[in-house]
Amino acid sequence: METVSYAQFSRELHQRLLEERIPLEATFEVSRRCPLACRHCYNNLPMNDRAARRRELSLDEYRRIFDEIAAAGTLWVLFTGGEILARADFLDIYTEAKRRGFLITLFTNGTLVTPRIADYLAEWRPFAIEITLYGHTRETYERLTRIPGSYERCHCGIRLLLERNLPLKLKTVGTTITKDEIFAMRDWAESLGVPFKFDSLLNPRVDCSQSPLEVRLTPEEVVELDLRDPRRLPAWRELNDRYRTAAMAPYVTNTVYDCGGGVGSFAVNPYGEMSICVLSQVDTYDLRQGSFRDGWERFLRQARLQQRTRPVKCQTCEIRSMCGSCAAVNELENGDKETPIDFACRVNHLRAYLLDIPLKPNPLCEYRPGSELYDDIQASAAALRERARALGVALPRQSRRSLPVFPSSPAASAVASEKAQASFGVTAYE
Ligand code: SF4
Ligand code: SF4
Repeated sequence: METVSYAQFSRELHQRLLEERIPLEATFEVSRRCPLACRHCYNNLPMNDRAARRRELSLDEYRRIFDEIAAAGTLWVLFTGGEILARADFLDIYTEAKRRGFLITLFTNGTLVTPRIADYLAEWRPFAIEITLYGHTRETYERLTRIPGSYERCHCGIRLLLERNLPLKLKTVGTTITKDEIFAMRDWAESLGVPFKFDSLLNPRVDCSQSPLEVRLTPEEVVELDLRDPRRLPAWRELNDRYRTAAMAPYVTNTVYDCGGGVGSFAVNPYGEMSICVLSQVDTYDLRQGSFRDGWERFLRQARLQQRTRPVKCQTCEIRSMCGSCAAVNELENGDKETPIDFACRVNHLRAYLLDIPLKPNPLCEYRPGSELYDDIQASAAALRERARALGVALPRQSRRSLPVFPSSPAASAVASEKAQASFGVTAYE
């Protein structure tokens, strides 16, 4: 019998089924309540928020939705929060999903993991568990989470999962508080034999508060972190090489959304509202009032096909495949899906200039040759090149080989999947 790696299986399935718009990947925010109060968090609510708990989907409602998505072809399910274990009945929800055969990933902060929960997960194994670290030292961790004792509880959770040989991955988020400990966290994770990744793109909160941006790094600091991880810049270059042509396809440039959301994936918030992704807050379909099929086939299809109302610089941007700006985060930060985020644009152009990717002038883009901020961003890029030299980092160069041409919509989706992976500095579909 022929066998293939999981990565190959996943890549081939995504590419084949995206053409048919099968909802392969589901993300369920089971609760926005959380025992921590992280400064950078985009959606957390206090654990004792009774009004929020009352609105959350019931176990029976989950059973019905799981039946419907299984019938529609969903294979991967991600449970996230808030904190998934904030719900006392989370293991019941999880078991219902397991019984339907989904490949399940759990995002948790680890602080509520008990021996009983770890034993249960060992018996009903998830596909993966990802815990976010908020610092290498107790002081940093609890400065970000604002909860005394949370560092110890997180480490206790990690120990319980590792003792049971569960498929754990660790990750962190680059902030003004954690930035000096990211590589210590990586080294610690590697000493445990656990994969590690990080990301530094923060969004405003879903309730419109801009408070997470108070701990966001500058674009220059974000790109300097790329320099210090030998896997990251090559991963960005590979992504750009692969999808540079795809990002120019007409389908992609004319729709407001240009990602895989609503094509091969969707999200459901704790209150049963389905959307293109967890960050998309406006185009939502109430699964309590209608069926998954109606939400997916009619509502999200229409949402996904919304056309742009005006020319924007992103439409002709050759480096869109690497960019952190998208309709959902634009909406959160700028109140408008079509207004790109300057922070993401600057990060992306810095990466492109460091990678020696040739960029055409673009009258709508401030960072292009001949535009108002070109000299300024070139000065930052030069400083980062100097920093790379000091660190002994060889900057990868842009491939000049001819690039593949992809069909439009599946290409956009594949770009989005790989972008999400590359933003953490790992190879796609790992
Ligand atoms: S642990 Fe996660 S959900 Fe909870 S406050 Fe921190 S970032 Fe938000
Ligand atoms: S780099 Fe700038 S122009 Fe290009 S896609 Fe991102 S926000 Fe738009």
